[in-house]
Amino acid sequence: MLLGVGNIFQLRARSISLLFCLILTGFALVSLALTPSEAQQPIPSAVSPANASAISPQVPQGGAAGSAPSTFGAQTQQTGLNIVVLDPAHGGTDPGARGTGGIRESEIVLDFAIQVRHALEQEGFQVVQTRQGNEDPSFDDRSALANAQRGAVFVTLHISSTGLPGTARVFVNSDLPSAIGSNGLIPWDRAQAPFLGLSKKLGDLVQGLLAQRFKGSPDAVQTASVRQLRTTAAPAIAVEISSVTVNDRAELDRMAPGVADAIAHGIAAFKPSYVVPNTTGALR
Ligand SMILES: [Zn+2]
Repeated sequence: MLLGVGNIFQLRARSISLLFCLILTGFALVSLALTPSEAQQPIPSAVSPANASAISPQVPQGGAAGSAPSTFGAQTQQTGLNIVVLDPAHGGTDPGARGTGGIRESEIVLDFAIQVRHALEQEGFQVVQTRQGNEDPSFDDRSALANAQRGAVFVTLHISSTGLPGTARVFVNSDLPSAIGSNGLIPWDRAQAPFLGLSKKLGDLVQGLLAQRFKGSPDAVQTASVRQLRTTAAPAIAVEISSVTVNDRAELDRMAPGVADAIAHGIAAFKPSYVVPNTTGALR
């Protein structure tokens, strides 16, 4: 399930202990669960100066600063897209979506993450996971891990409670107002804004590969208000597999290699269009 931003504030206001909510922009309708601890996570007001500097210089290859890396010598060895922050959603006291057969989203996504990680490493990427076991980092903790990287993309993995079993969808955050202040900082809750174009490009590449492998999946990325993506300062996508309603989890397990392959090859195809200069502020 994907979690929307507005739902958090509703939960805060009502102080209810469990939330099943909706998100929607565009065409997707997704239900979700949220634990009280998540709902009460404070949202920092802005990305830190270090993170803000990581945001501003990122430009597509071939753009005005496309030749910048070659001028910075050895310091620029890490300036390409090298890191994938992989987020198995939910965990801990938050099981995510649950099927009648006892299937828990939080467990399945962790198993998927192992295969996605392996496929990414075979493509030469370094993988950083937001959780390795049954923990539940906050949304901000997960975004902060991604925002601390330079040259990373972010992928959050979900299993839905809806949709045609055996299909997969990719979401990017819906449009956010861009608001870079005079101090050069980007508000934390709009950290995704400068990356939406790149996120859509990445999302379309991954969705296209998923559609080839899983018939009935959409051909193009969809948009939704996704809490986890909103605060992430990197090209960021949510991949949602259908669904926890299958009677036998083996039906989901069989999808894992294809999902891993689509994500890894989609990111590899995206890599040439994403260059991250390594000198803070150099391109301002
Ligand atoms: Zn989920």
